[in-house]
Amino acid sequence: MTLDLAAELTSRLAKQKQQHRYRSRKVIDSPQDVELQCGGKPLLSFCSNDYLGLANHPALVKALKDGAERYGVGSGASHLVTGHNYAHHALEEALAEFTQRPRALLFSSGYMANLGVISALTNPQSNIHEDRLNHASLIDAARLSGAAMRRYPHNDIEILNKYLEKSNDDHPFIITDGVFSMDGDIAPLPQLATTAAQHNATLMVDDAHGIGVLGEQGRGTIEHFGLNHDDVPILVGTLGKAFGTAGAFVAGSEEIIETLIQQARTYIYTTALPPAIAHATMTSLKLIETEAWRREKIQALIQYFRNGAKQLGLNIEPSRTPIQPLIIGDSAETTRISDALQQQGILISAIRPPTVADHSARLRITFSANHTEVHIEQLLSSLAKVMKHNAT
Ligand SMILES: *Cc1c(COP(=O)(O)O)cnc(C)c1O
Repeated sequence: MTLDLAAELTSRLAKQKQQHRYRSRKVIDSPQDVELQCGGKPLLSFCSNDYLGLANHPALVKALKDGAERYGVGSGASHLVTGHNYAHHALEEALAEFTQRPRALLFSSGYMANLGVISALTNPQSNIHEDRLNHASLIDAARLSGAAMRRYPHNDIEILNKYLEKSNDDHPFIITDGVFSMDGDIAPLPQLATTAAQHNATLMVDDAHGIGVLGEQGRGTIEHFGLNHDDVPILVGTLGKAFGTAGAFVAGSEEIIETLIQQARTYIYTTALPPAIAHATMTSLKLIETEAWRREKIQALIQYFRNGAKQLGLNIEPSRTPIQPLIIGDSAETTRISDALQQQGILISAIRPPTVADHSARLRITFSANHTEVHIEQLLSSLAKVMKHNAT
């Protein structure tokens, strides 16, 4: 490294610190769960995406071991060479059935699924319309594709319509998160589907935070609204959140999936997930399908938290999902509150710009089916102490 580069990086990092945007990684020395160990200290966590409490579920741990016994550890190659294992194939078929679509295709991560889908299905002449609060991977994907991207104000169908009227693309794309990752609100999919139909546009939904959690059967935001494959032809789901494992999938028509296999570079040029992970994900899927109580319990916990938070006068956002952000605004103050909570044994990391808009730093509180009402009482009483201290 040249001295020039070192000096530039040092000054960039210093600037990030000065803006209270510097991030440091906490080392977790236990399995991911609501009660975990961090630096040898027990903490009660409210900030994972393990919504259904499956990441450390004994049946998944056992399935992963069984999968390793049967298929070994590494997949050894990309899907198109020799990495495509029976375990991957069976999971794709099960995910297609679960999402009620002709086919599904596994990717190594949600980030890669979004990059692959958007760059394979669009061309530089395409018009892509994205919600302003879409996940970074969807924004990056549109940039990578070389297509023209326009970001409409959050959930604003009227402005989206205006943009579409001016579009010079015969078949534009509308792309949205199903559940917005930092706010927890649900995209107005029925209105988006109607708008898409009116403009001959294709609607793509990234349901990373909805799949497994919303809908009676856990089929996500699309089920929540009673929509189907025709309304939302492209569905992306991730496996590292509610499914408790790793990876992601795209579900859609035969033509879409076959195009992705042939042309999505993040599918073609990467090593397939370990087959044991796919094998363990079959167990997640079974739990998601058969244990509706996990979704019911989350909803009850959300209600319990929201009632308590209202009594404390906390300014919580109108979210019906396990993502219940408490917007503080100032980054330094958000970090202070997060640190003070940790002193009380509560782990909630501070989410700051540029992950969220300027002046909207927040505590992104999330719930898991493994939380109890007692845990929520602890959270509320710690918030009361820390926020009161804040006011004085
Ligand atoms: C987490 C997330 C992703 C990325 O998924 P990974 O599997 O973690 O790469 C994509 N989209 C949304 C909306 C997410 O929240």
